[in-house]
Amino acid sequence: MKKTYIIGAGPAGLAAAYKLLKETDVKPVILEETSDIGGISRTHRFDENLMDLGGHRFFTKSDEVMEFWLSFADIQEMPSRDDIILNNLAKYKETGVNPETQDNVLLIRRRLSRMFFLKKFFDYPLKLNFESFKNLGLKNIITIGFGYLISCIIKRKENTLEDFYINRFGKPLYEMFFEGYTEKLWGTHPSKLSPEWGAQRVKGLSLLSAIKDSIFKKEGKDVETSLIKEFYYPKYGVGQLYELAKEKITEMGGTILFNRKVSKLDFNGDKITHIHTMNNENQEEIFECDEVFSSMPVKDLFKAFNKEIDKNIRQVGENLAYRDFMTTGLLVKKLAVKNQTEFKTVSDIIPDCWIYIQEKNVKIGRLQIFNNWSPYLVKDFENYVMLGLEYFCDEGDEMWTCDDNKFIEFASDELSKIGIINKEDIIKGTVVRVKKAYPKYTGCYSEFPKVIEYLNTIENLYCIGRNGQHRYNNMDHSILTAFRAVDASLGKCDKKIIWNVNTEKEYHETKN
Ligand SMILES: Cc1cc2nc3c(=O)[nH]c(=O)nc-3n(C[C@H](O)[C@H](O)[C@H](O)COP(=O)(O)OP(=O)(O)OC[C@H]3O[C@@H](n4cnc5c(N)ncnc54)[C@H](O)[C@@H]3O)c2cc1C
Repeated sequence: MKKTYIIGAGPAGLAAAYKLLKETDVKPVILEETSDIGGISRTHRFDENLMDLGGHRFFTKSDEVMEFWLSFADIQEMPSRDDIILNNLAKYKETGVNPETQDNVLLIRRRLSRMFFLKKFFDYPLKLNFESFKNLGLKNIITIGFGYLISCIIKRKENTLEDFYINRFGKPLYEMFFEGYTEKLWGTHPSKLSPEWGAQRVKGLSLLSAIKDSIFKKEGKDVETSLIKEFYYPKYGVGQLYELAKEKITEMGGTILFNRKVSKLDFNGDKITHIHTMNNENQEEIFECDEVFSSMPVKDLFKAFNKEIDKNIRQVGENLAYRDFMTTGLLVKKLAVKNQTEFKTVSDIIPDCWIYIQEKNVKIGRLQIFNNWSPYLVKDFENYVMLGLEYFCDEGDEMWTCDDNKFIEFASDELSKIGIINKEDIIKGTVVRVKKAYPKYTGCYSEFPKVIEYLNTIENLYCIGRNGQHRYNNMDHSILTAFRAVDASLGKCDKKIIWNVNTEKEYHETKN
């Protein structure tokens, strides 16, 4: 039987294993560096509360991916705890999948995320409605209008992300809502970033579409992906689904070996013959292999290649850049901001799942309110609010190396400074660090096609997932790359197809 190894137990690695087990006789072995399942898409336990590393919406246009998720959990048919308390029962059945009594459930959640700027809430994506006018003030509105007109008359050549945004939103709006946030996220000014990032995430949105949307409020199938109103979410967080996948994979005969960091790959010509792993105690193990599905970062993959490679290609591969991520979980008694929306919530907290923090005097990028993702994430969700304060950083920098308690203090100060909480309402906090959360499209990235071409020449290697392809892939894209890779390994499609996932124009989210 073929000796098939999969590097990484994130959504991509698990999806590859599942499809192989379902469609072939192969019994794959997953080699996972950490002791966790789900990669970035895992859920962190904080005492008796749960938090994602950045909330993860389940959304896909692919039936194949939806079918995969539904192999592990059913879609909610009866009301969840918060809907029962709020008496929001109309849209539910009287019998069926019941999140109150069943665990393996995908909840249907309302998507609401706004921006916080000038200590006020703005719709996301920005709508130029009465509320925004009121919040911005006449002077800002006139400046935005003129700026937009200028950008319509004088179109910039789109060499950078800054050009891309200014062409679509005008300079003043770009400076208010995109410049600072983008710099926080990537640690690089938009004038130094490739426009490709914007093309992937902002798609058809522009100031004009913001105005149209506020006037016509279109809903339905052809609405921009960014405006979709609901999403699926597992009762106990994103990681629950991948834990369930792990159970199924093991039942079907697959193996997951934890604490195995892939450190070296030996070759015979263009084929990988052996995989070396190291564990926490620096002990090496060597696995003989026939084929390898890799979701490990491309940069680390190149470092692991025990083989002569064209110098330029190796240099590009080994110098790919990433942005790292830290999140502080804070359990608080209440929020200092009031719910002034039409949406009713338990304890009347603001209804957002997450909020983009656009304030310029703080480093926090986004705020998650986990009560709104699932009431089952927070132990006593009627009396406490579980928050995730998200920071973008670089591994080893001042933020990354900050002592946990100091960082919790710093993050709490920031949130109280912008008026979202009062510090005396904090019960406790935690910190989680995520390496290589975002593949960056900077520096040598422009030469990445050479790397892809080279990787395709390694006969028994299939690169899958987000960092495995160095592409800004969401979970569904990551899973699709794994499915196409399995197809390619079975001779059902060309290997190049794996790299085509998530390259079509019409798909992306505007911001995560
Ligand atoms: C803040 C944030 C929010 C997000 N929100 C969403 C969302 O709302 N919806 C959505 O669909 N997607 C979202 N995503 C994207 C989603 O997290 C990824 O698409 C998905 O986790 C990628 O899956 P993957 O298996 O490719 O990689 P990963 O999740 O990164 O998993 C890779 C695995 O490989 C292991 N590994 C790495 N190197 C080695 C090695 N050398 N040896 C062995 N194992 C190794 C890692 O430990 C990890 O377990 C978000 C991402 C971030 C950062």
